[in-house]
Amino acid sequence: MMRVYFDHNATTPVAPEVLAAMLPYFSEEYGNASSIHTFGQRGRGAVEQARESVAALLGARPAEIMFSSGGTESNNHAIFGVVGAASGERKHVITSAIEHSAVLDPCEALQRRGVAVTVLPVDREGLVNPEDVRRAIRPETVLITIMLANNELGTLEPIEEIGKIAAETGVTVHTDAVQAAGKVPIDVTRLGVHLLSISAHKLYGPKGVGALYVRKGTRLEPLMYGGHSERDRRPGTEDVPGIAGLGKAAELAMMRMKEERQRIAALRDRLEKGLLERVPYARVNGSRAHRMPNTTNLTFPFVEGEAMVIALDLQGIACSTGAACSSGAVKPSHVLTAIGLAPEDARATLRLSLGHQTTNEEIDYALDTIPPVIERLRQLSPTYKKPVTAPAR
Ligand SMILES: *Cc1c(COP(=O)(O)O)cnc(C)c1O
Repeated sequence: MMRVYFDHNATTPVAPEVLAAMLPYFSEEYGNASSIHTFGQRGRGAVEQARESVAALLGARPAEIMFSSGGTESNNHAIFGVVGAASGERKHVITSAIEHSAVLDPCEALQRRGVAVTVLPVDREGLVNPEDVRRAIRPETVLITIMLANNELGTLEPIEEIGKIAAETGVTVHTDAVQAAGKVPIDVTRLGVHLLSISAHKLYGPKGVGALYVRKGTRLEPLMYGGHSERDRRPGTEDVPGIAGLGKAAELAMMRMKEERQRIAALRDRLEKGLLERVPYARVNGSRAHRMPNTTNLTFPFVEGEAMVIALDLQGIACSTGAACSSGAVKPSHVLTAIGLAPEDARATLRLSLGHQTTNEEIDYALDTIPPVIERLRQLSPTYKKPVTAPAR
């Protein structure tokens, strides 16, 4: 049996080069980056080198990069930080229905504190309409937070157009680029964003470290208090090994992106096409024109996503479902609901996300393994009838 990892949007393995870059800072190079002696200065050097690498990946200046504990913290910091720093009694935030919970939950918390929040819908492909953003802007709007790439569908949102619309009225724009970073080119100036979140573990770096791009001049309150690191924005002793790892991951991503993008997209397309051909009634969700190269999200009617994940795991294939199990009940994903999927279809959905170590052999194995697993599970469904011939598509 092969072991195939198709869950790179959940997390990625640490690249060997990244691990090598981190190791010295756990042992001989243990200085506190804020100390002025040689031990400290070597840690400081690693942190500042990483800042340059992350800035280069995003088209930013090093001084505009703040390190954090990951995507969740970066998103929380951007949202609470901008709203907290904004003046005025009435405040309004615009977001979308398909954001990660690390954006939606902070927005809900703000709502409980009296901030008005507009949650924009998406179309059937999972795309936000920039004109909806324009119409939602009010005099008291202080922040627009819309993701660059969706983690479930892989859909790439029109942030550049949203940035242009925001610039006309001077509203601050944040984008959650945790999924996009390392997979598609990012240029903060071209996107027109003031804040952008990334996370190391989604791009072959370690878990528990991330960064927030903060455009020079953006007003931002700290999330925590307790020291002067990261230009007074983020207290606490720097995670030097983690930050060095993020820096190396950013460097590798820049070097490999162009080639890897094409290679992974070709593998993804072959997997997707093969599954559509071999599994009756299978459908692809999300935009195929505006999509990350590594992700496919497919609905296989008549089967439960969770049952598929478990059955595929037994065959060595790791993937995830669009449904989240909360308090024992399988709740359909808010992303799939937002694109108009019926609850039973949302529950019959799998996300397959490929990565750097995905091979042609793994795609062959998946194409041989997944269709019979689904057919076997479908035999248990009282409503499923196997088509006599493959349906026309
Ligand atoms: C994984 C993810 C996050 C959370 O990042 P962590 O570093 O795991 O906290 C936020 N947004 C998106 C889109 C993600 O995929």
